[in-house]
Amino acid sequence: ITVSALRETAAGERRVAITPEMAKKLRGKGIRILLEQGAGRAAGFPDASYADVEFASADEVMAQADLLACVLPPDDDVLRRLREGVIVVGQLRPYGAASRIAALVQAKVTSFALELLPRTTRAQAMDVLSSQAAVAGYRAMLIAAEHAPKFFPMLTTAAGTIRPSRVLVIGAGVAGLQAIATARRLGAQIEGYDVRPETREQVESLGAKFLDLGVSAAGSGGYARELTAEERVAQQQALADHLKAFDVVVTTAAVPGRAAPKILTAAMIAGMKPGALIVDLATESGGNCELTRPGEQVQQGDVTILGPLNLAAGAPLHASEMYARNIYNFAELLIRETALQPDFDDELVAKSCVTRGGEALFNA
Ligand code: NAD
Repeated sequence: ITVSALRETAAGERRVAITPEMAKKLRGKGIRILLEQGAGRAAGFPDASYADVEFASADEVMAQADLLACVLPPDDDVLRRLREGVIVVGQLRPYGAASRIAALVQAKVTSFALELLPRTTRAQAMDVLSSQAAVAGYRAMLIAAEHAPKFFPMLTTAAGTIRPSRVLVIGAGVAGLQAIATARRLGAQIEGYDVRPETREQVESLGAKFLDLGVSAAGSGGYARELTAEERVAQQQALADHLKAFDVVVTTAAVPGRAAPKILTAAMIAGMKPGALIVDLATESGGNCELTRPGEQVQQGDVTILGPLNLAAGAPLHASEMYARNIYNFAELLIRETALQPDFDDELVAKSCVTRGGEALFNA
């Protein structure tokens, strides 16, 4: 079996799907590793850091790979050139991606989108949403600290006492909890908010206060459901009052397969403190804030709104290490003895499969 990864081509993408550590583990199973030259360099893994791994041009890699691991979905050019029968594994961003799925069908490849794995205990070791969300949450809070006009911690100095910044994190999933933990390490005074009631305990266990707005919307599979129109209005009214107190708001709210819920309206932002800063981690899925512009910094009155993209690529070494471990653990499900033979009776394999041979199994 030949397992491969190409150099990622998306703008600003620095992660790699196979790290030296995971290449070594795969080699230990008798698997050949063939990577595109320079595949790991931007993540901090030059070719020389991979032991017992072969390197070649992208064309060579595509001609020989049996399993192609990727971080972000292959670009159109790669999709067109996929070899029939190859297995593609990675974040394929399947929701709403009808044309990408059609291209995978046309290429007659079997593909797995790890975003579709159920959030079960057994799937945790391959859960890329969790591993990469943790990186994104950490990065979002550092970006907030960097752009805020205030210190995060309390400081007692000869020039007087500085009060800690007040930080609110909206959405206390994996990214939100890591954002809270990061703000805590920086000494801010933090509150966390979510619509899933079980997050209260998680927020409090990190030393933050839970902001209770009286709207509860637990959905299935441990996720939130979409709010009804009335619930959304109730949430916004309750939140508008509280917002005035915060220096920094980091938003991370998401509902799988849907556009991010719009939580912060222009009117709510107009009521915030001068100098307040919003970092919208949900930018890529449409943003939690009405005024977010992808990849840009928006100045609305005296409030600044940042819409960072691909935050997980901002700490590429550790993000790649975690990602590659996820890939390795998933690949183990696909390998039987010495052959690549996905077991479609395994729910993790079945649920993450987007295309099988020339057939689409996931409806975008
Ligand atoms: P996510 O990225 O889909 O959403 C982020 C957060 O936004 C969630 O906590 C969600 O409740 C919240 N949210 C959605 N709509 C909102 C709204 N209108 N207002 C406020 N908040 C809103 O979620 P995620 O971080 O990927 O994970 C969600 C859950 O899955 C968590 O409970 C997590 O612990 C669980 N999980 C379980 C496993 C596992 O057992 N294998 C692995 C990972 C995550």
